[in-house]
Parts: sequence; structure tokens; C-alpha cells
Amino acid sequence: MKKIFLLMTGILFLIFETNAQKLPLGPKPFKAPCTTLIGNTLLPVAIDTAKGRSVANNDIIWENGDVILVRFMDNVGSQQLRNMIMQHAKSWESYANITFKFVPDNTPITNIRVKLGGREDKIGHNSRLGIGCNDVPQNLQTLNLDTSDFIDYKAYLDQYKNGGAFLQYLKSKGTDFKNYTYKDFYNDVNAFKDPNMKWNYEAMRGTTAHEFGHSLGLLHEQSYPNGIKWNKDTVYKYYAEYQGWDKEKVDFNVLEASDFFYTNGTSYDPVSIMHYPVEAWQTLDGYTVGYNNDLSEGDKKIIAALYPKGQKVSKLAVPKIKITNIGYGDVKMDNVKKGILIYPSFDISTSAVLGSVYFVARLTTEDGEYYIPTANENYSWNKMAATYIKMKLLPSSKTSYNKSGQKNLELFFPFKEMPDLEGKKVKIQFSVYQDDVVNNRYQKLTFNFLSSPLTVPK
Ligand SMILES: [Zn+2]
Repeated sequence: MKKIFLLMTGILFLIFETNAQKLPLGPKPFKAPCTTLIGNTLLPVAIDTAKGRSVANNDIIWENGDVILVRFMDNVGSQQLRNMIMQHAKSWESYANITFKFVPDNTPITNIRVKLGGREDKIGHNSRLGIGCNDVPQNLQTLNLDTSDFIDYKAYLDQYKNGGAFLQYLKSKGTDFKNYTYKDFYNDVNAFKDPNMKWNYEAMRGTTAHEFGHSLGLLHEQSYPNGIKWNKDTVYKYYAEYQGWDKEKVDFNVLEASDFFYTNGTSYDPVSIMHYPVEAWQTLDGYTVGYNNDLSEGDKKIIAALYPKGQKVSKLAVPKIKITNIGYGDVKMDNVKKGILIYPSFDISTSAVLGSVYFVARLTTEDGEYYIPTANENYSWNKMAATYIKMKLLPSSKTSYNKSGQKNLELFFPFKEMPDLEGKKVKIQFSVYQDDVVNNRYQKLTFNFLSSPLTVPK
């Protein structure tokens, strides 16, 4: 009996040796998930207004009709690969009044920079959201694609088993087939610079369009409020194991982010390209979503609403205000006028939608740590001692305040309107708030100006 067994294994072994390689050992690596950090980009005061919004952050969408300059980083990627990526990025253009203009790698100033990375970078797939791309220094990428996920590993596994250029390559470099693992296999496929690369076109199309969707301001559809009944414990476990995220980070970026999300009348769209795949173990009711690799009807609708063709400004556009060149400004006691004069210094530019702003100067404690409560309703901001001005800003305009020696913005805080601070030291903190009337919220814009201490006279 023993003899027969040995004989049989010998025959089996022979069959494997002559006809095909044994399958590699160990677990198969998985496709990297999108790691765009949605939560981090949301405002702490963001309100889910359900008014004319979708799962897109309207505060960060580009101006309708914008030509967005895109380049690849570091001279990486064959022309063939680049052409396919450009084509998938541009799939949004059929529905949106926006242009991704791909420019040469050495173009000094661009809006989006694409890094074609590999598994070894461990960066995965992600993108900055909307005009947030413009905040990234020019030497850094705004969008990461792990191109090792775009390879058709099945085709190479087939060559490995049944012979082909890939197997020849492995033999030529003296591969140890006895202890060959899937990890070795994936590394070798990536190292084997196949001139006739076999691509996984589905994964490439879906992932590229998804990341460029982020770059247009779209968020993750799986975080649509109440869209999915998450099995939180297993979700925490998964992200801890594969992403190294702690509970807080998972809450912030995956689970609770939905509470802050901008939604609109559009319903939850399980076939959106902005949806993660969802597996049954992640949900309480066994709900699943597969890999969505094509723009859904919902995706086409929302991107057309955000960037309408044949229309100057989107109905979903909100006022967007950008503050730059913030200077220290000037803050001084005026004993004749009996109060504090505040001259903040900055440039402010606006988008195509008319917006109002509040210029707010608050009193703080001497160390700048705390605001000072007040009962004075006229000189307060959220019940804290403050003086402010409301100003309407013209669309698509740029204004400089208190620059080049001119004084064209003054805030005044009379001593008699302050809470009892006589003889005490205070600081002035200056902020700008955008007034989003339609959505009934203030959006804080900048918080950068804090004066030196001043003593309130007795
Ligand atoms: Zn994503």
C-alpha cells in the first residue's frame, strides 16, 4: 500500500514537472483600495443641507468651463499607458463642461499632477479633491495611481503555468520554483518589463475615472447617508489590518464621514463609479457592491449638474472665496476715538457666484487661547466679544486690503462696548467667514491673523 502511494505521488509529480508549473504558494495580493481621505477635507462646520447638492463638495468644485492643466510626474509610464489613462480621465468630459488638458511633463505650473506609481510605493490610488489640487506644491503629485493594479495577472499566471515569454524570463533569471509564492509572482510580473504588456483594462478604466472624479470634487458614494448598514466591527478590523488605520480614522473617513456629506435630492447610487466595492462581511444585511468600472447614469447626471454645458454658471455652484497674501496688518489703540483700530492685510478673490463675507475681529485672552464672552449683542460673534463688517463681493473679482500703504478696510472696537477688561491685556484675532445664504451657514475661511497683546486702558 505504502509503495503504491509513493508511486502515485511520483507520477503526479512527474505530470506537474512536464506539463506545467505548480501554482505559486501563499495568499494572492489584493487590489489597493482608494485611499482618498474624504473626512480630512471636510469642514468641521459642514452642514448636510440637502439643498441642491449631491455627493460632491460644492465648495471645492472648479469654475464651470475651466480648462484644468494635467501632467504626469517623473517621466514615468509608457506612451501606451498614458494614452489609456488620458482617455479614461477624459471620459468625464462627455458629460461635464470641463477640460482635462494634458501638457508636457516639464510644464512648470499645472493644476493636477499624476504619479504613476507601483506596489512598492505603497501609496495606492487617491486624489486631492476639486480645487484643493491647487493647494499642492508644484513638485508634488495631486493624484496617485498604482499601475501594478492595472496589469492582467491572469494572463501572466497562464504563461507561468503553460509556458510563454514570462516563464522564459523567470527561468533565465534562475527562479526557485519550489518555494515560489504569489508575492514573488506579482513582483516578477512587475519587474518583467513586458513590451507587450497585458493590461486589466476594466481595473484601469474604473480606477482612473474614479480618481479623476475626486479631482472634479466628487466624494465617495458608499458614504451616502444611510446608504449602507455597515458592520462596524469588521470594517474596523479590515482597515486596521490592511491600511493601518485606527478606529478614529475609520470613523472619520469611512463611517461618520457620511454625516457631513453634501447630498441632494439624488438617491443613493450603488452603481456609481465613486462607490467602493462592498463585501457581504462589511454589512449587517449581507449587502454587496461589485467593482464599478463605468460612469453610472447618476454619475453623468451629477457631473453635468455641477459643470453644465451651454450654461455659464452651475445652479449648484456656491460662492467661493480665496484669501491670499495674508500680511500681519496693523492693530492699534486709539485714545482719541477710544477704541481699537484693526487693519488686516490680505488679497481676496471670488468665483463666478456673488458672495458675502464677514470680516470678524475677536478679542482673545493675552495668550491668544480663548475668546472672551460678552453680553453685548451688538459687539459679539457667537456670544464672544467681537466687532465685524459684512461685505458683498463682486463675482470673479480680486481686491487687496490694506496693501501698499493704503487703508481701505478698517474695523473698530470701542472700549465702552467691551466686556469689563480695563487694565487687562488682550489680543485681536481676525477671521473671514463666507456667508452661504442659500445653505444657511457660515464657512470659516481663514484664521491666520493674531495681533500682539494690547492693554485696554482704565
Ligand atoms: Zn476614492
